[in-house]
Amino acid sequence: MFVIIQEFFINICIVIALVFMYLQVRWTKLLPAVSKQNSQWIDGVAGGLLGILLMYFSIQVTEQTIIDLRHLPVMLLLLYIGIRPALLSAVIIASGRLLYGVNLSSMAAVILMIFLFIGYMWLYQKVHHRESPLKSSFQMLLWSNIVFSIVISLVIRDWGTLQFLIPIYWLISFIGGMLASYLVHYLRRSHYLFKTYEEQSSVDYLTGLYNVREFDRLWNHSVRNAVEKEEALTLLAIDIDFFKRVNDTYGHAAGDEVLRQLGSTLNEVTRSFDIVSRNGGEEFTVILLDCSNEAGRAKAESIRRTVEHQEFLLPDGEKIFITVSIGVSTYPDHVSTAKGLLEKADESLYEAKHSGRNKVISA
Ligand code: GH3
Ligand code: MG
Ligand code: MG
Repeated sequence: MFVIIQEFFINICIVIALVFMYLQVRWTKLLPAVSKQNSQWIDGVAGGLLGILLMYFSIQVTEQTIIDLRHLPVMLLLLYIGIRPALLSAVIIASGRLLYGVNLSSMAAVILMIFLFIGYMWLYQKVHHRESPLKSSFQMLLWSNIVFSIVISLVIRDWGTLQFLIPIYWLISFIGGMLASYLVHYLRRSHYLFKTYEEQSSVDYLTGLYNVREFDRLWNHSVRNAVEKEEALTLLAIDIDFFKRVNDTYGHAAGDEVLRQLGSTLNEVTRSFDIVSRNGGEEFTVILLDCSNEAGRAKAESIRRTVEHQEFLLPDGEKIFITVSIGVSTYPDHVSTAKGLLEKADESLYEAKHSGRNKVISA
């Protein structure tokens, strides 16, 4: 009796430790590297291997009967990832059991797995709530325990053994299952929050461009890179002309819409590796990597002209035109250390503003 509890405890530890490690690897290494489809295959195989490992650590109850927590990977995959990996893991686990030897017990185990899966699928499709996976886990564990009890009673047929085995199994399956499910639920939520915060800290919420903080980081990196590789680096400082009037005439929401559309335009007219940011208010920058002053001025001029001719659609359906002024500066043409490049671009922008706006001025 004590030995059984001890061994089940080991099983619970294995589930929790391996699920934890697998999820870390999955999120940091696997998902960024493979397609969604392939990741589902890998998830299914990983679940299958975990199930087989759990069988390896299983508890010999009678000469022919082993019990363990192999149903947990299948349940977790179904609840948190999807049908396909869950089915794959169930097939792997059932085949793995047959490799241990084909006898009454292993046949019973395969039938058990088939019944488990059918029940899981029914619960998943009929009563599963995405918001409360823990509730669904409880229902699935209840189903697993009922199926297990029936099958094991048919196989063992020894009331003395069943009397202590079934209650212990129910207890351990519930504890292990709920713990493992809570772990996945908790890790998934914190991983999602972490990703969201990471994204929000570098992206401008309005335009989806880089924000000023990320601009700063990328700017320092670009400057270092340009100096090291002896490449040219050109910076465009872009400011909307009389933007206050847009807000005053059409409202702040209309102003926001104009900023959003200008953001998309800047993204469209620049190269994929150029760095476009909203540095605050109605001020934008474009870092043109490995770009001479001449090419930078041409790019700025093409941006200015595109904006001048673009219709900006306001939320009330009205269409308006705006213009932008752009200051250009280039390393190493205008500054020897690349450090003063920001100020140079700002000075040029100031000059563009004070000599009539809707202009490109280079340092
Ligand atoms: P100039 O041609 O000299 O640049 O004139 P301007 O009116 O564009 O410049 P100013 O700096 O006087 O005003 C900028 C305006 O931008 C003031 C502010 O109301 C508006 N603004 C700043 N941030 C936002 C924003 O996030 N959304 C909206 N709708 N307006 C903003
Ligand atoms: Mg302005
Ligand atoms: Mg401004």
